[in-house]
Amino acid sequence: MGITCGRAAEAGNADGIDMNSTSTNERGDESREARQCMVAMQLRRRGIKDECVLEAMSRIPREEFVPPESRQRAYEDEPLAIGGGQTISQPYMVAVMTATLQLKPTDKVLEIGTGCGYQAAILSCLSKEVYSVEIRPELARSAAERLQELGFANVHVHCGDGSAGLAEFAPYDAIVVTAAAPLLPEPLQQQLAEGGRLVAPVGDPSHQNLVCARKRANAISYEWHEGCRFVPLVGRFGWKGLDLL
Ligand code: SAH
Repeated sequence: MGITCGRAAEAGNADGIDMNSTSTNERGDESREARQCMVAMQLRRRGIKDECVLEAMSRIPREEFVPPESRQRAYEDEPLAIGGGQTISQPYMVAVMTATLQLKPTDKVLEIGTGCGYQAAILSCLSKEVYSVEIRPELARSAAERLQELGFANVHVHCGDGSAGLAEFAPYDAIVVTAAAPLLPEPLQQQLAEGGRLVAPVGDPSHQNLVCARKRANAISYEWHEGCRFVPLVGRFGWKGLDLL
Protein backbone atom coordinates (compact mmCIF):
# COMPACT_ATOMS: atom_id res chain seq x y z
CA MET A 1 0.00 0.00 0.00
CA GLY A 2 3.03 2.34 0.07
CA ILE A 3 3.46 4.82 2.86
CA THR A 4 -0.02 6.36 2.80
CA CYS A 5 -2.19 4.60 5.29
CA GLY A 6 -5.48 3.27 3.97
CA ARG A 7 -8.82 4.96 3.64
CA ALA A 8 -7.99 7.61 6.23
CA ALA A 9 -5.10 8.91 4.14
CA GLU A 10 -7.06 8.68 0.89
CA ALA A 11 -9.73 10.89 2.46
CA GLY A 12 -7.02 13.51 3.07
CA ASN A 13 -6.77 12.83 6.78
CA ALA A 14 -3.60 10.91 7.44
CA ASP A 15 -4.38 10.60 11.14
CA GLY A 16 -7.58 8.69 10.59
CA ILE A 17 -9.42 10.98 13.00
CA ASP A 18 -12.81 12.61 12.43
CA MET A 19 -11.94 16.29 11.89
CA ASN A 20 -15.47 17.66 11.99
CA SER A 21 -15.53 19.29 15.40
CA THR A 22 -13.20 21.78 17.04
CA SER A 23 -12.53 19.53 20.00
CA THR A 24 -11.61 16.67 17.68
CA ASN A 25 -9.40 19.10 15.78
CA GLU A 26 -7.60 20.03 18.97
CA ARG A 27 -7.23 16.39 19.89
CA GLY A 28 -5.85 15.72 16.41
CA ASP A 29 -3.21 18.45 16.87
CA GLU A 30 -2.24 17.13 20.28
CA SER A 31 -1.96 13.62 18.97
CA ARG A 32 0.19 14.72 16.00
CA GLU A 33 2.51 16.59 18.33
CA ALA A 34 2.80 13.62 20.66
CA ARG A 35 3.68 11.40 17.70
CA GLN A 36 6.36 13.80 16.41
CA CYS A 37 7.85 13.91 19.87
CA MET A 38 7.78 10.10 20.18
CA VAL A 39 9.54 9.74 16.81
CA ALA A 40 12.22 12.31 17.69
CA MET A 41 12.93 11.35 21.29
CA GLN A 42 12.24 7.62 21.47
CA LEU A 43 13.12 6.49 17.94
CA ARG A 44 15.55 8.79 16.07
CA ARG A 45 17.56 9.54 19.17
CA ARG A 46 17.99 5.83 19.86
CA GLY A 47 19.27 5.13 16.38
CA ILE A 48 16.22 4.17 14.29
CA LYS A 49 17.19 5.39 10.81
CA ASP A 50 14.68 3.73 8.49
CA GLU A 51 12.72 6.72 7.16
CA CYS A 52 9.78 4.57 6.04
CA VAL A 53 9.34 3.16 9.55
CA LEU A 54 9.68 6.63 11.10
CA GLU A 55 7.14 8.02 8.63
CA ALA A 56 4.61 5.27 9.33
CA MET A 57 4.99 5.73 13.08
CA SER A 58 4.56 9.47 12.75
CA ARG A 59 1.21 8.92 10.96
CA ILE A 60 -0.59 6.08 12.74
CA PRO A 61 -2.68 7.31 15.70
CA ARG A 62 -1.49 4.97 18.46
CA GLU A 63 -4.18 6.27 20.84
CA GLU A 64 -6.81 4.56 18.65
CA PHE A 65 -5.31 1.18 19.56
CA VAL A 66 -5.16 1.45 23.36
CA PRO A 67 -8.07 1.17 25.83
CA PRO A 68 -9.87 4.51 26.47
CA GLU A 69 -8.39 4.81 29.98
CA SER A 70 -4.84 4.69 28.49
CA ARG A 71 -5.31 7.21 25.65
CA GLN A 72 -3.40 9.89 27.57
CA ARG A 73 -0.45 7.52 27.88
CA ALA A 74 -0.51 6.19 24.31
CA TYR A 75 2.83 7.82 23.36
CA GLU A 76 4.75 6.97 26.52
CA ASP A 77 8.03 5.12 26.28
CA GLU A 78 6.68 1.79 27.56
CA PRO A 79 4.32 -1.08 26.82
CA LEU A 80 0.68 -0.56 27.89
CA ALA A 81 -1.98 -3.03 29.02
CA ILE A 82 -4.57 -3.90 26.36
CA GLY A 83 -6.64 -6.41 28.38
CA GLY A 84 -6.38 -10.11 29.19
CA GLY A 85 -2.90 -9.58 30.69
CA GLN A 86 -1.51 -8.66 27.24
CA THR A 87 0.32 -5.50 26.15
CA ILE A 88 0.86 -3.21 23.17
CA SER A 89 4.64 -3.10 22.67
CA GLN A 90 6.74 -0.03 23.52
CA PRO A 91 7.02 2.23 20.41
CA TYR A 92 10.80 1.68 20.22
CA MET A 93 10.36 -2.10 20.11
CA VAL A 94 7.76 -1.80 17.32
CA ALA A 95 10.23 0.36 15.36
CA VAL A 96 13.21 -1.95 15.91
CA MET A 97 11.29 -5.06 14.86
CA THR A 98 9.76 -3.39 11.83
CA ALA A 99 13.10 -1.89 10.69
CA THR A 100 14.79 -5.30 11.11
CA LEU A 101 12.33 -6.79 8.61
CA GLN A 102 13.53 -4.40 5.83
CA LEU A 103 10.09 -4.46 4.20
CA LYS A 104 9.42 -3.77 0.54
CA PRO A 105 6.03 -2.54 -0.80
CA THR A 106 5.55 -5.90 -2.57
CA ASP A 107 6.11 -8.04 0.57
CA LYS A 108 3.63 -10.45 2.14
CA VAL A 109 4.03 -10.33 5.93
CA LEU A 110 2.94 -12.64 8.75
CA GLU A 111 2.56 -11.32 12.30
CA ILE A 112 2.06 -13.67 15.25
CA GLY A 113 0.29 -11.92 18.13
CA THR A 114 -2.10 -9.28 16.76
CA GLY A 115 -2.90 -7.87 20.21
CA CYS A 116 -4.57 -4.51 19.60
CA GLY A 117 -3.43 -4.36 15.95
CA TYR A 118 -0.97 -1.45 16.21
CA GLN A 119 2.09 -3.32 14.91
CA ALA A 120 -0.06 -4.80 12.12
CA ALA A 121 -1.11 -1.26 11.12
CA ILE A 122 2.52 -0.14 10.91
CA LEU A 123 3.45 -3.24 8.88
CA SER A 124 0.52 -2.61 6.54
CA CYS A 125 1.91 0.80 5.55
CA LEU A 126 5.20 -0.75 4.45
CA SER A 127 4.10 -3.92 2.68
CA LYS A 128 1.46 -5.34 0.33
CA GLU A 129 -0.48 -7.75 2.59
CA VAL A 130 -0.33 -8.49 6.30
CA TYR A 131 -1.68 -11.72 7.80
CA SER A 132 -1.88 -11.46 11.57
CA VAL A 133 -2.76 -14.31 13.94
CA GLU A 134 -4.10 -13.82 17.48
CA ILE A 135 -4.91 -16.68 19.83
CA ARG A 136 -7.32 -14.75 22.08
CA PRO A 137 -10.70 -14.49 20.37
CA GLU A 138 -11.72 -11.23 22.10
CA LEU A 139 -8.47 -9.50 21.03
CA ALA A 140 -8.66 -10.90 17.49
CA ARG A 141 -12.24 -9.65 17.12
CA SER A 142 -11.61 -6.15 18.46
CA ALA A 143 -8.36 -5.72 16.49
CA ALA A 144 -10.05 -6.83 13.26
CA GLU A 145 -12.91 -4.36 13.83
CA ARG A 146 -10.55 -1.52 14.72
CA LEU A 147 -8.28 -2.09 11.70
CA GLN A 148 -11.29 -2.22 9.39
CA GLU A 149 -12.78 0.97 10.85
CA LEU A 150 -9.45 2.79 10.46
CA GLY A 151 -9.21 1.65 6.83
CA PHE A 152 -6.34 -0.87 6.93
CA ALA A 153 -7.84 -3.02 4.21
CA ASN A 154 -4.66 -5.02 3.57
CA VAL A 155 -4.52 -6.51 7.10
CA HIS A 156 -6.18 -9.90 7.54
CA VAL A 157 -6.67 -10.99 11.15
CA HIS A 158 -7.00 -14.70 11.90
CA CYS A 159 -7.91 -16.19 15.25
CA GLY A 160 -5.91 -19.27 16.24
CA ASP A 161 -2.57 -20.65 17.40
CA GLY A 162 0.01 -18.72 15.41
CA SER A 163 2.97 -20.59 16.96
CA ALA A 164 2.54 -22.98 14.02
CA GLY A 165 2.32 -20.07 11.57
CA LEU A 166 -0.40 -19.77 8.94
CA ALA A 167 0.43 -22.37 6.29
CA GLU A 168 -2.57 -21.45 4.15
CA PHE A 169 -1.00 -18.22 2.85
CA ALA A 170 2.72 -19.17 3.06
CA PRO A 171 5.41 -18.43 2.02
CA TYR A 172 5.97 -15.01 3.63
CA ASP A 173 8.66 -12.46 2.79
CA ALA A 174 8.74 -11.39 6.42
CA ILE A 175 7.49 -12.83 9.72
CA VAL A 176 7.35 -11.03 13.06
CA VAL A 177 6.53 -12.72 16.35
CA THR A 178 5.38 -10.25 19.01
CA ALA A 179 5.32 -12.71 21.92
CA ALA A 180 8.26 -14.42 23.65
CA ALA A 181 9.14 -17.85 22.26
CA PRO A 182 11.32 -20.51 23.94
CA LEU A 183 12.86 -21.30 20.52
CA LEU A 184 12.18 -20.06 16.99
CA PRO A 185 9.19 -22.20 15.99
CA GLU A 186 10.18 -24.60 13.19
CA PRO A 187 6.96 -24.08 11.15
CA LEU A 188 7.65 -20.33 10.98
CA GLN A 189 11.11 -20.98 9.56
CA GLN A 190 9.59 -23.31 6.99
CA GLN A 191 6.99 -20.69 5.99
CA LEU A 192 9.68 -18.10 5.12
CA ALA A 193 10.11 -17.34 1.42
CA GLU A 194 13.54 -17.40 -0.20
CA GLY A 195 15.24 -14.17 0.93
CA GLY A 196 12.71 -13.92 3.78
CA ARG A 197 13.36 -12.37 7.21
CA LEU A 198 11.95 -13.46 10.56
CA VAL A 199 12.25 -11.51 13.81
CA ALA A 200 11.18 -12.83 17.22
CA PRO A 201 11.96 -12.43 20.91
CA VAL A 202 13.57 -15.70 22.04
CA GLY A 203 14.56 -16.61 25.59
CA ASP A 204 12.93 -17.41 28.91
CA PRO A 205 9.59 -15.92 30.01
CA SER A 206 11.22 -13.09 31.96
CA HIS A 207 13.94 -12.02 29.50
CA GLN A 208 14.56 -12.53 25.80
CA ASN A 209 16.76 -11.30 22.95
CA LEU A 210 15.53 -10.38 19.52
CA VAL A 211 16.61 -12.99 16.98
CA CYS A 212 16.65 -12.23 13.27
CA ALA A 213 16.64 -15.22 10.93
CA ARG A 214 17.18 -14.96 7.20
CA LYS A 215 16.60 -17.61 4.54
CA ARG A 216 19.05 -17.72 1.63
CA ALA A 217 19.47 -20.60 -0.82
CA ASN A 218 17.24 -22.62 1.51
CA ALA A 219 19.68 -22.23 4.43
CA ILE A 220 18.81 -20.11 7.46
CA SER A 221 21.27 -17.79 9.23
CA TYR A 222 20.64 -16.26 12.66
CA GLU A 223 21.68 -13.01 14.31
CA TRP A 224 21.13 -12.19 17.98
CA HIS A 225 20.19 -8.63 18.85
CA GLU A 226 19.23 -6.58 21.88
CA GLY A 227 17.48 -7.73 25.05
CA CYS A 228 13.72 -7.30 25.43
CA ARG A 229 10.71 -8.43 27.43
CA PHE A 230 7.51 -9.69 25.82
CA VAL A 231 4.45 -11.58 27.07
CA PRO A 232 4.81 -15.33 26.42
CA LEU A 233 3.97 -17.06 23.16
CA VAL A 234 1.61 -19.88 24.12
CA GLY A 235 0.30 -22.73 21.97
CA ARG A 236 1.90 -25.76 20.36
CA PHE A 237 5.36 -24.23 19.67
CA GLY A 238 5.22 -21.74 22.54
CA TRP A 239 5.59 -22.05 26.30
CA LYS A 240 3.93 -25.11 27.75
CA GLY A 241 2.28 -24.58 31.11
CA LEU A 242 1.76 -20.86 30.43
CA ASP A 243 -1.59 -21.47 28.84
CA LEU A 244 -4.34 -18.91 28.56
CA LEU A 245 -5.29 -17.62 31.99
N1 SAH B 1 1.66 -6.86 18.28
C1 SAH B 1 0.76 -6.51 19.35
C2 SAH B 1 1.31 -6.80 20.72
C3 SAH B 1 1.13 -8.20 21.01
S1 SAH B 1 1.22 -8.75 22.68
C4 SAH B 1 0.29 -5.08 19.26
O1 SAH B 1 0.75 -4.31 18.41
O2 SAH B 1 -0.56 -4.75 20.07
C5 SAH B 1 1.35 -10.46 22.27
C6 SAH B 1 0.10 -11.07 21.72
O3 SAH B 1 0.42 -12.40 21.33
C7 SAH B 1 -1.04 -11.20 22.74
O4 SAH B 1 -2.18 -10.58 22.26
C8 SAH B 1 -1.23 -12.71 22.89
O5 SAH B 1 -2.57 -13.10 23.12
C9 SAH B 1 -0.71 -13.20 21.55
N2 SAH B 1 -0.29 -14.61 21.50
C10 SAH B 1 0.37 -15.34 22.43
N3 SAH B 1 0.58 -16.61 21.99
C11 SAH B 1 0.02 -16.67 20.74
C12 SAH B 1 -0.09 -17.71 19.75
N4 SAH B 1 0.38 -18.94 19.95
N5 SAH B 1 -0.72 -17.42 18.60
C13 SAH B 1 -1.23 -16.17 18.35
N6 SAH B 1 -1.16 -15.15 19.25
C14 SAH B 1 -0.53 -15.39 20.43
